[in-house]
Amino acid sequence: MYTCNTERMIDKIAAFSKFGDAGRGGITRFSLSPEDHLARNEFATRMEKIGAAIECDDMANIYATLPGSDPAAKRIAMASHSDSVQNGGNYDGILGVISAMEVLETIASEKIPHRHPLTAMIWTNEEGSLFPPAMMSSGVITGRFDKEKMLASKSRLDQGITFGAVLEASPWMGAATNRLSAEKYEAMFELHIEQGPILEEAGAEIGVVTCVLGMVNYRIRTFGQADHAGTTPMKNRKDALFAAAKVLTYLHEKLDRLDPALVYTTGEIKCHPCIHTVIPDEVDFSLDARHENPEVIQKVIEVIEGIPAEIAGCKTGHERSWARDTVYFDSDLVGKVKTAADSLGIKNRYINSGAGHDAQFVCGMMPTTMIFVPSKDGHSHCEPEYTSPEECTAGASVLLNAVLAADAHY
Ligand SMILES: [Zn+2]
Repeated sequence: MYTCNTERMIDKIAAFSKFGDAGRGGITRFSLSPEDHLARNEFATRMEKIGAAIECDDMANIYATLPGSDPAAKRIAMASHSDSVQNGGNYDGILGVISAMEVLETIASEKIPHRHPLTAMIWTNEEGSLFPPAMMSSGVITGRFDKEKMLASKSRLDQGITFGAVLEASPWMGAATNRLSAEKYEAMFELHIEQGPILEEAGAEIGVVTCVLGMVNYRIRTFGQADHAGTTPMKNRKDALFAAAKVLTYLHEKLDRLDPALVYTTGEIKCHPCIHTVIPDEVDFSLDARHENPEVIQKVIEVIEGIPAEIAGCKTGHERSWARDTVYFDSDLVGKVKTAADSLGIKNRYINSGAGHDAQFVCGMMPTTMIFVPSKDGHSHCEPEYTSPEECTAGASVLLNAVLAADAHY
């Protein structure tokens, strides 16, 4: 078994934490921003130094490839993203890139034999922080998203700026022939922070990820009557916001009984007219529910379909926005991650991903899997995001050995 180097990991984590440093222990690094250019440069410079060849594709995804002993063999990729949310942390995404770099650095410095070319990769615009949607370029490359539509995506900060314009101006835009594809690549691994508390609570250093949870997304609405807040007696009111509160309570009571592993969230609410002197006449809120088992998701749908047609004098309505099935990772690769962690003596457990990742799109294209490392206190998408250098290195070591096992397998 081979192991990665903690000092080198600490150095890389510190180096990348500077690019977009928001001065409060975290970063704001939107994809293809000046801060992201610095991170991409650092990646390319360090990878060229160990003899990797740098390529970019037409979505500005970057590939650093170390040749193997068989030039005809397909590549094995290790990938994650370099962008962050506004005031995000130093680990989400970039740790997968740093770990991929560390794997290549370890292989180069210890001259570890391997047959396949091995590629460390950066995905463009995974967060979709400035230009929605999330997982934009993995979506384009795997044919889920229309490229022209993505190029037309407008900046949340300035509707006059499109993603296409930023991409065009970027030094990282290359040829479509460089894209990750099943013709050129054998498999892809993505190491990522867990973004939840399960590994920490279990005292495990590695999560062997089996799937990305299926989910369903609804808009739920209540319709009342707008009237004056001062002149309308309580008994005469049709208050859509009060009705929405009742619907939410109804949903929580029913959904909590379904399954302890079910997670669901109302994160967005629109209240009309949203004026403090007017009784609301229409409320529209989101419901996002996630579970591995489609039967549980079906029960969630039944609960939503069963919302009473009228609550607190207001009519209710619901509409499914979208849904996706659970995406299971390649069982061979999942087994290789498990074996690598066990052989290294690293405490691990199987886990699913409640969050979306580029790997779930790639999974439909080639054998793919993920490795999770713990998130301190379960935090992510915020400045307190933290994984210890030892845990980060343990993750990189598992990635290294799983990739070498895949190299021997294919
Ligand atoms: Zn991420």
